[in-house]
Order: sequence, then structure tokens, then C-alpha cells
Amino acid sequence: MTTATCPDPGSTPSPDCNLCPRLAAFRREWQAREPAWFNAPVPSFGPVGARLLVVGLAPGLRGANRTGRPFTGDYAGDLLYETLLTFGLARGRYAASPDDGLELADSRITNAVRCVPPENKPTGAEIVTCRRFLSGTLAEMANLQAIVALGRVAHDTVVRALGRAPTRVPFRHGGHYDLGNVRLFDSYHCSRYNTNTRVLTPEMFRAVFGDVRDFLDAVPRAA
Ligand code: SF4
Repeated sequence: MTTATCPDPGSTPSPDCNLCPRLAAFRREWQAREPAWFNAPVPSFGPVGARLLVVGLAPGLRGANRTGRPFTGDYAGDLLYETLLTFGLARGRYAASPDDGLELADSRITNAVRCVPPENKPTGAEIVTCRRFLSGTLAEMANLQAIVALGRVAHDTVVRALGRAPTRVPFRHGGHYDLGNVRLFDSYHCSRYNTNTRVLTPEMFRAVFGDVRDFLDAVPRAA
């Protein structure tokens, strides 16, 4: 007798994933309004063998939802990719377009929620529903040693995906936690709002990635 198991959702939702009805309807609305845009769950960017995973909140409407590459095409991407280039975690030139030739180096980027939410605000249920794909992403990264969570929602989602309780592992900008074989670094999200209000300055953001760079340089690579 075989035992029924829940199928592994994997790391990448189908382009027409409708597990979140509100987000699927929002996607369809924008498919009609802007048929040349990506308007689908945005896949992770970067090599699966990377040691670092950066986790954002969700695609921006006119950023990743338009271009199809995480953090590409809006202000948050300007600061993130500039910072990754500064610390040798990306190669090439970032020009806010998926065909700019930029490559990630030992790093990968994904989002806690893969579809663009209205007003950048996914509901709690949507965050829980999409977590299966983050879990799949973590599971497929055999060399993963470090995660940067951009903001509290990304932090809590990563912590839950790693089987821990966020109440025991609270978000702290500039802090880090060792969770099993992975070190989780926290940063405020690099959104325009956070930088305009100076909740996060470029210097603060670079300091987090400087810590990440030092950590990756100090730990041995898997054989
Ligand atoms: S947010 Fe995630 S789970 Fe929800 S519809 Fe999009 S891909 Fe599917």
C-alpha cells in the first residue's frame, strides 16, 4: 500500500498560478492593461549553486512585475544591484533591464511573495500560501550559507521556511542569526520609501552586505 503525499510544489510557480485569487486577478488586470509587461510570478534570479540568497518582499508593479527579473526596473533595484556589484556579488553593469547582461556572482535573488500585490501589500494568507516556493528555493540551493532578508516580512517568511518561530528570532536590522547551516542577515528593505525617510541609508545597506561579504570570505566553500 502506498501512502499519499503532498506533491512537492518546487521552487518555481507556474506562470498562471492561482493559489492566491486576489493576486491572480490583479495579474490578469495588468495583463489586459499592459500586455507587453511580464505580469506573472517572478522567478528567482541567479545561480542555484550560489551561497547567498537575498529575499525581498514581492515584485514591484512597475519594477519586477514589468520586467520579469527581481528588483529590476525600480529604485529598490538601483540600490540593491549597485551594492551587490560593490561587494563582488554581481558582475557586469546594471541597466534596469533583464537584457543588460548583469550576472549574479555566488548570489541569487528571490521574493517571499512571487506575484505583485496591490499597493505592495500582500495579505498574511498570501504570504503563507507562497511560502511553499521559498521553501522549495531553499531546498534546491545545496551550497546555501547565507541569506539576506530585506524587511520583516521577508525575515519572518525565511524563519518560518527554516522551521523556526519568528517570535524567537525577531527581525533586527544589521543583526544576524545562525539557523542550522545558514546565517540569516537582516536589513530594512531598500525601498524608495525607506531611503527617502532615511530609515535605511545606502551606508547602512552597504554595511549589511559588507558583513555578508566578510562572512562568505571566512567560511569554507563546500567541497
Ligand atoms: S503569490 Fe505565489 S502562491 Fe500566490 S498566486 Fe502568486 S505564485 Fe501563486
